[in-house]
Amino acid sequence: MTAAVTGRPLPLHVPIHGYGVSDDDVLMVDGVPITEHAKRIGRTPFYLYSRRLISERIAHLRRTLPAGIEIHYAMKANPMPAVVEHIAPLVDGIDVASAGELAVAIRTATPRHHMSFAGPGKRDEELQAALEAGIVVNVESPAELARLLRLGEASGRRPQIAIRVNPDYELKSSGMKMSGGPKQFGIDAEQVPEVLKSLHGADIDFHGFHIFSGSQNLDGKAIAESERKSLDLALRLAGDAPAAPRFINLGGGFGIPYFPGDKPVDLAPVAEALAEAQVAARAAYPGCAIVVELGRYIVGEAGVYVCRVIDRKISRGQVFLVTDGGLHHHLAASGNFGQVLRKNYPVLVGTRVHGDRREVASVVGPLCTPLDLLGDRMEMAVAEPGDLIAVFQSGAYGYTASPTRFLSHPEPAQAFT
Ligand SMILES: *Cc1c(COP(=O)(O)O)cnc(C)c1O
Repeated sequence: MTAAVTGRPLPLHVPIHGYGVSDDDVLMVDGVPITEHAKRIGRTPFYLYSRRLISERIAHLRRTLPAGIEIHYAMKANPMPAVVEHIAPLVDGIDVASAGELAVAIRTATPRHHMSFAGPGKRDEELQAALEAGIVVNVESPAELARLLRLGEASGRRPQIAIRVNPDYELKSSGMKMSGGPKQFGIDAEQVPEVLKSLHGADIDFHGFHIFSGSQNLDGKAIAESERKSLDLALRLAGDAPAAPRFINLGGGFGIPYFPGDKPVDLAPVAEALAEAQVAARAAYPGCAIVVELGRYIVGEAGVYVCRVIDRKISRGQVFLVTDGGLHHHLAASGNFGQVLRKNYPVLVGTRVHGDRREVASVVGPLCTPLDLLGDRMEMAVAEPGDLIAVFQSGAYGYTASPTRFLSHPEPAQAFT
């Protein structure tokens, strides 16, 4: 954690660490003012990801979670090849969600059996790519399993299989529920024994289980509880497996604070549950690894989205900063990526972090829709055209989770420090 040069915390509604402020009040990323980054990148808007903050985050996970817990990077959170290449040697595995992601992942030195491919609706070409790469497929349905076995037989490649389980419980207080009840993800827990029995004697390698219960959870106790339940379920199911599981992937779902009142997740109860899980898994199946797969937690806080103020206008007393960035680049910050009630991301004026004068202003984009809102009536420094606006917590589900074609504006740049 680098303290701001001014010694003051950033004026944001959630605690953000690791960024600095220069003597002349400019936001710094990895010790360099964003005005310098902007010059080097050559245009705005841009996403900027900090190499140092990603490394520090993974080091923090290593210190906090028990030794031996395998950390995987779920690369859909940020699939920029330079970012994936930086993360690969720092983690134990990579989880991909498409053949496009697989093509990036296999350029790293990560061992193939430490890569897995999850996601419903894998096309035949994608299953074939997984077979050829020799990566583990987290099977999401009986029909997908049948296709994988057929393709394996036809191509003489031995399928590397894990079963993704849709558990019979829900993760409490998760931002995005992905399990429990009827779901397109995973095979219902009650169907899994039959599927496992069908694999006895099949020409495959069985790797284990994958149970992912949800995303963006800020409640460490709830995550721990879900890990305990997932482990129990996996151990119960393993009795019918064609071979001893080599891993049990308990998902992840560690959230990051975005909105007023959000607190960073307390990993102490999570670490405790994982330590117990590791002991129990190894007692039942020596050598069985416990895996957690994290996307947002690893990269989310390490990224800022930066755009430039084009116009400053006052409409019936309300200040609008109209920028060259917006919803088309950063759907999540606009509130249109899974939010029910729109809330503001942490936003500030990057070229006047604290500012001599402050005011309440809204930050909007150039699109012809009132949805194009990056900050709704936020307290910030008084900004003028030319100033840079920084949107924090933008390292995950930003660039690739946005409709960049909408209105045919230029795409944002991406840079990695
Ligand atoms: C998206 C996804 C993740 C990563 O979720 P985060 O909230 O970014 O940590 C992990 N596992 C699976 C199966 C996913 O689909």
